[in-house]
Amino acid sequence: MNSNRTEILLRERKAVFVNRDGTLIDNEGKICISKKEDVTLNESIIMGLKKLYDLGYMIIVITNQSAVAKKLITETQMNEVNKYINEILSIRGLKITHFYCCIHHPSIKSCVCRKPSPYFVNKAIEAFKINRCKSWYIGTENKDKICAETAEIKFIKIKSNGNIDSALNQIINSNPESDYYNLNEETF
Ligand SMILES: [Zn+2]
Repeated sequence: MNSNRTEILLRERKAVFVNRDGTLIDNEGKICISKKEDVTLNESIIMGLKKLYDLGYMIIVITNQSAVAKKLITETQMNEVNKYINEILSIRGLKITHFYCCIHHPSIKSCVCRKPSPYFVNKAIEAFKINRCKSWYIGTENKDKICAETAEIKFIKIKSNGNIDSALNQIINSNPESDYYNLNEETF
């Protein structure tokens, strides 16, 4: 980690929360991502996240992986995929601080962590001492929006497998002390 980033990180403690499938990685045409061969990074998002990472944002993934509950993949496979994502991101000079994965599905077993529950966002905020007001949530679905709203994190909606370029400047130029508000790609 470069020392400038370390300094910023310790001072600011800000994070960008992202969805995994359809945001960080391309999931088009796939029911679930079961192995590393299935992983294709969404390049335009990666470039944007790298900019935010260099500005000291932690990148934290919040993902529903009900394929585990449905026995389409094992938890080990899911963890292997997450590990692989971080391996290929490290080549690009960024890292996911943590993957928070809900491995449940309400048809099998109810849980407290499945999005739109803000459970994992709140857990991350506590674990990494993140400043809510300085943090953002980038997601594709309404459940991401509700999750962000409930956790009082500023939300940016992007198109599935789309990019975050239009939102980057808003994040970079935002007043971190401003009140909680929503952003939608239509506003850019
Ligand atoms: Zn869960």
